[in-house]
Amino acid sequence: RFITFEGNDGSGKTTISQRVYETLRARGISVIYTREPGGIAIAEQIRTIILDPRNTEMDARTEALLYAASRRQHLVEKVLPALENGTHVICDRFIDSSLAYQGNGRQIGMEEVYAMNLFATQGLLPDLTLFLDVGLEESMKRMEGRGAKDRLDQESAAFHQRVREGYDQVKALYPQRVHVIDAHGSIEEVTDACLDEIERVIAE
Ligand code: ATP
Ligand code: C5P
Ligand code: MG
Repeated sequence: RFITFEGNDGSGKTTISQRVYETLRARGISVIYTREPGGIAIAEQIRTIILDPRNTEMDARTEALLYAASRRQHLVEKVLPALENGTHVICDRFIDSSLAYQGNGRQIGMEEVYAMNLFATQGLLPDLTLFLDVGLEESMKRMEGRGAKDRLDQESAAFHQRVREGYDQVKALYPQRVHVIDAHGSIEEVTDACLDEIERVIAE
């Protein structure tokens, strides 16, 4: 099964998805952990270009194409081989991030971003997406607690609000696939809520 984590910056995706992965692995389940953009050498190189604080001139569509390029290589090199092998894949972000961030955040339009991504994914979607839901105020607080880490940390509150609204549209479009997890609780509580959903999908 292909399981992705989504949510605004600072919602806890990396923290929670790693905990989930470690728990599954400790149970002897065949699973790998990966992230987007990145996860393999070429995609990590593309990530470096996208997030380089010097690249202040980057056009929104160029950025969207780079995310899709990294997604393509990551799928072909890592995700698809694992899935074909019967290994579950836990991935920190996937196509929904592009719909929310590039489509709505950067205002390219979600339909255009979806169409462009179709070329990269050939229609592959996750089996389960866990959307970590925290208010913008809490996610901003968590981001501050962690400290600035890349070019996108400079984005305005209005940008993050548009990303949130983009995710609202993603949830409405894919109600079967996307499960909203209340991410205000402790790290342990949020991890357990995610594991409940994953166990259900893995057992299918
Ligand atoms: P980004 O999209 O920017 O990568 P993220 O969604 O991966 O962000 P994390 O980096 O996992 O978010 O978490 C942001 C900060 O919030 C970290 O310092 C982390 O320790 C903390 N955090 C994560 N989950 C919780 C939680 N449930 N309760 C309190 N703090 C949390
Ligand atoms: O989640 P991660 O920390 O790996 O993301 C790196 C940065 O890229 C974050 O600041 C995030 O907001 C941004 N991003 C983006 N569009 C995506 C995926 C991530 O703007 N599709
Ligand atoms: Mg993260």
